[in-house]
Amino acid sequence: MAMENSCFDAIVIGLGSMGSAACWRLAQRGAKVLGLDTFSPPHRRGSHGGDSRIVRLAYFEHPDYVPLLQKAYQGWDELAEWKGIAVFERTGLLYFGPTHHPLISGALESSRLYSVPIERASVTNYPLFHVPHDYCCLLERNAGFVRPDLAIQAMLEAAQQYGSQHRTQERVLEWKHERGEIRVNTERGIYRAKKLIVTAGAWGGSVLAQLKAQLQVSLQTLVWAKAKNPAQVAVGTLPCWTLADEQYPGIFYGFPAIPSMVDGSIRGFKLAHHAPGITVTDVDREDPVPQPDSLASVRDILDRYFPNQFEDELEVETCRYTNSPDGDFIIDSLPDTNQSVVYALGFSGHGFKFAPAIGEVLADLALAGETQIPIGFLSAGRFR
Ligand SMILES: Cc1cc2nc3c(=O)[nH]c(=O)nc-3n(C[C@H](O)[C@H](O)[C@H](O)COP(=O)(O)OP(=O)(O)OC[C@H]3O[C@@H](n4cnc5c(N)ncnc54)[C@H](O)[C@@H]3O)c2cc1C
Repeated sequence: MAMENSCFDAIVIGLGSMGSAACWRLAQRGAKVLGLDTFSPPHRRGSHGGDSRIVRLAYFEHPDYVPLLQKAYQGWDELAEWKGIAVFERTGLLYFGPTHHPLISGALESSRLYSVPIERASVTNYPLFHVPHDYCCLLERNAGFVRPDLAIQAMLEAAQQYGSQHRTQERVLEWKHERGEIRVNTERGIYRAKKLIVTAGAWGGSVLAQLKAQLQVSLQTLVWAKAKNPAQVAVGTLPCWTLADEQYPGIFYGFPAIPSMVDGSIRGFKLAHHAPGITVTDVDREDPVPQPDSLASVRDILDRYFPNQFEDELEVETCRYTNSPDGDFIIDSLPDTNQSVVYALGFSGHGFKFAPAIGEVLADLALAGETQIPIGFLSAGRFR
């Protein structure tokens, strides 16, 4: 096969959230790229399932993420312009929580350091939410959501337009770095490249055994509830939202009821708990159907913060986080490969919004060996 005889500038393992972005950015710069995936992204077996992802800039987790997010915002707008449709819908984002909670104090700190517009809002403007009187409410207007399926499709299409070649339903079995080049064996062929980029998500520890100990995969539950008054949760009325409750670790978050791009049908008001999930020990096994007790925290939040506003019946889906030890991403090159193997893994349940920027970083690292985008705080060296 001709493809097997040629040597690519870069092979990307995994064409999901980060791999599709990497192919797009590499091919845009004229690199000869091959992208490989076990499935046909977008799909429901990795970390990008579930219809929607929040995008926000006043990053409460750590202000160091803000410059990377500013790049990502530019990337989402560039992709939208190229595709001719809104990829990132700016619904705004509400933050509810006690003033001292990291959700509130962290968002205000990022806003202060990077002049990210965020304003104090009145809870009375959002009658859907029954929050305690001492809760602070913030509104970040320039936040919203992306549809991961649409975004991944658009990034793959953009990549292909620039010449990137993609082979799906073709799992990578092993790779080798020898005599200054990379050889990748899949179920169907052997390919050669100057550089290897690993964006294998939940399978990152299988593709790069060196990272296995640092990547813990967990199963997370997403819930859709039917509103008794659908107008209250419609896009255009309800922003995306985040909420802290001190009985629980992490935060809760949700979306307005987003119509399907295919037929306009509405699945409901989606919400979830961003917190440690159920550990997955075998990433190749189909995920189990979520058990009712895994919904306890979400039901409690629906009962206490949205009393009598939703039907009892909930629709449920699962998705995977790949967690790093500290919840921050791991972006680096593998030692002893002369920077030939670059990876972006451990997105710990908050990576999607960064995808266009991660694509740029990976293209920089693969083609130039360095990047001007400040990602030092995400290097693997922090665990040594
Ligand atoms: C429930 C849930 C809610 C989330 N909410 C948000 C949110 O609101 N905002 C946000 O920013 N982020 C959010 N995230 C996180 C975000 O979705 C992930 O960080 C992101 O999707 C990770 O992307 P990835 O490229 O690492 O993995 P994926 O998108 O899963 O891509 C990995 C790809 O690698 C392929 N692959 C693996 N091994 C091989 C192999 N051997 N050969 C070939 N291909 C291979 C897989 O098939 C897959 O397609 C959420 C995640 C979940 C699960």
